[in-house]
Amino acid sequence: GAVPDWELLRSQFPMIGDLIYLDNAATSFAPECVLAAMDQFERSYRANVGRGVHRLTRIASQKYWHAHEKAADLINGEGGITVFVKNTTEAVTMIARGLNWQPGDVIVTTALEHHSNLLPWRALEKYGVMLRIVGLRPDLTLDMDAFSAAMDDSVRLVAVTQASNVTGTIVPVTDIAGLCRRYGALLAVDAAQSVPHMPVDVRALGADFLSFSGHKMCGPTGTGVLWMKEPILEPLFLGGGMVEQVTDDGFTPAEGFHRYEAGTPNIAGGIGLGEAAAFLKEIGMHQIEVRERELCSRLIEKLSAVPGVRVYAPVDPVQRISVVSFTIEGIPPHEAAAYLDEEGGIMVRSGMHCAEPLMRRLGCPDGTIRASLAFYNTESEIDTLAATVREMLS
Ligand code: PMP
Repeated sequence: GAVPDWELLRSQFPMIGDLIYLDNAATSFAPECVLAAMDQFERSYRANVGRGVHRLTRIASQKYWHAHEKAADLINGEGGITVFVKNTTEAVTMIARGLNWQPGDVIVTTALEHHSNLLPWRALEKYGVMLRIVGLRPDLTLDMDAFSAAMDDSVRLVAVTQASNVTGTIVPVTDIAGLCRRYGALLAVDAAQSVPHMPVDVRALGADFLSFSGHKMCGPTGTGVLWMKEPILEPLFLGGGMVEQVTDDGFTPAEGFHRYEAGTPNIAGGIGLGEAAAFLKEIGMHQIEVRERELCSRLIEKLSAVPGVRVYAPVDPVQRISVVSFTIEGIPPHEAAAYLDEEGGIMVRSGMHCAEPLMRRLGCPDGTIRASLAFYNTESEIDTLAATVREMLS
């Protein structure tokens, strides 16, 4: 399709103003259409969903359920079950707690993982489950030889991020899915950093589970998705809204996503999340990917040109998303980030990025500075960042 008008799209984000916001991997901004969809729920048809028959509950239910279809549509997930959750952390926890683990089961994961895709699996070790962690190559890509070597018939599940929130590394999930099929293992993909930045097709990927967060993809905070191919998980949360029938001595769980959404959900948030998914789809994830690749290459080039700056990112633009970690010689990350905000009005993340084992492997025990882009960022913002870093060192 035609190249989107990026400047016009940028103008739809009321938060941007004069800010130089380069912390999109932590949370992105939300456009007018998402804010309006949530506002409309609160102002004109606020009611509970899936309960009763009055006109407001019918409108609210229809909008909330339709939001699931919009979210599924973004990842080509219509054939599976799209559950609305609080965030990626909750989604991964629901998978870890929802499978019937046996002592000796092995989970294979990687050194790239966010704590949210590590700790829920770690917590299973007390049931006799074992973790195998696949490392990185010196070029910051995943060591696929080591991955193959980690696979055998005892592997029950593979849990991988599709894109790292520290190095931006894109993981070859389709190849990993092939290994999973060969050994009969389930595949759970942490797509928190991929869904906002590149086309994700759960069918083509061959994932059994895919998790992502609404707040990183122009949607509301407190929203996320757990997509699953089949409803093989035991529901973690039980109560109202998730049952078909409750007898005096038991219950039959409901079908579809309802089974996994007990209690009154974040209705405004879910509606906003659906709107965000439709918004991104309308722009086109491929267009977003191309635009961000362009911006990211400029970011890496400009930062690398500053003496004393070290950049942590794969060299090949197609193997990375627009997340760039860097360190500055002699300046601790938090100090650098505070300077960037005070002197340049630039917002970046600093510290461990919820990935402490990875920081140690990278040789950055004090963390890094991280600039992470969205399609609404500009060349001039990137240039200002590089210039301010240069100034800091002078
Ligand atoms: N996985 C990755 C790769 C992430 O970047 C994040 C968010 N930083 C998470 C999981 C957790 O997401 P949330 O905080 O929305 O649960």
